[in-house]
Amino acid sequence: MNTGLPSVPLGRLRGVAVGAHWSTLVAVIVIAQIVATSVLPQAAPGHAVVVYWIAGVLSALAFMLSLLAHELAHALTAQRFGIGVDRIDLWLLGGVSRLSSSPRSPRAEFLIAVAGPATSVVVAVLAGAAGTGLAAWGAPALIASPLLWLAITNGVLAVFNLVPAAPLDGGRVLAAAVWWRTGDEHRGTKTAALAGRAFGLALVAFGLMQVFAGALSGLWLVLLGAYLAVSSAAEQSANETKHRLGGVRVRDVMVQDPPIAPGWWTVRTFLDSLATGPHRLVFAVVSFDGAVVGSVGLAELVRVPDPLNTRIGDVCRAPSAETVASPDEQLLDVLGKAPLRQGRDLVLVLRDEHLVGVVGPEDVAWALELSRSAPITRHEVTS
Ligand SMILES: [Zn+2]
Repeated sequence: MNTGLPSVPLGRLRGVAVGAHWSTLVAVIVIAQIVATSVLPQAAPGHAVVVYWIAGVLSALAFMLSLLAHELAHALTAQRFGIGVDRIDLWLLGGVSRLSSSPRSPRAEFLIAVAGPATSVVVAVLAGAAGTGLAAWGAPALIASPLLWLAITNGVLAVFNLVPAAPLDGGRVLAAAVWWRTGDEHRGTKTAALAGRAFGLALVAFGLMQVFAGALSGLWLVLLGAYLAVSSAAEQSANETKHRLGGVRVRDVMVQDPPIAPGWWTVRTFLDSLATGPHRLVFAVVSFDGAVVGSVGLAELVRVPDPLNTRIGDVCRAPSAETVASPDEQLLDVLGKAPLRQGRDLVLVLRDEHLVGVVGPEDVAWALELSRSAPITRHEVTS
């Protein structure tokens, strides 16, 4: 569930972009090594090392394909519920499907979650049947064993992912169950996130105990546990934001009559005028006839090489789809387009192309804090 991993594009499946982060290679090598040096020499003794390694790499690649099938099952089920799938990525600790929005019902949440483990079970059964069948037909152990190994790993994959802890599939099932019982989506996600943090920390503790007992493989559990704990905490924080700002509109948090930077002024004149305030870090920039031409940060202005001869309008950033909003838009929709960075980003709130307010990251922080004590006052813009 981690975000922003740079990944190598592998292609498209049913319209979904599939990619792999470089760490997938580490996973393939580790798995191939386990199969080549430990699983196969025991199950099918008497072969050359290179033969074990070829079988090991093929087994690791087959496992990655089964992981992709698991993720694709999530993605296709999400699409059936009208949820867009941005992309699927493979990485060190498995696969990640990025959905464009959250499921709108507990039933959708449940079915999207179980589709993955169900697919892993199907792969396990098919690989197990093929492996046992081939062995019964007298096929060499070197061919039947990797299939049986694939069956077992997919079985383990299904079971582990069904642990009721976010961001695992079982966590989504738990969230769906709580949502269905209480009718409260926020509570469902919160419960699963708390379970995720507890399970992640327990894995870290267990892994550390193994490491101290001399088993270095415990590091793998530490890594996995830390990942689960961190991503469930991130999920909880996003869930909290969504809960607190749900229903809040841009006009409820925007600064009305915001301080502006005149685009025709020189940077020097404007910086000199700031001695008495306003104490803002980012300004909306307007032209002489009152049209909005963009925004500019104080940090950018103080770095302009020739402030005496540079006009603000020449250095400001032009408005874009991410930085312009209408007063009636849902604040969460605006925040979903791009993160607001302190001292750099400013949402320009326009009505009929006129600037009626601005929203900066500090205004969002203000709204989040205030929502702890009382609902934010919804107010109307008169201009
Ligand atoms: Zn899954």
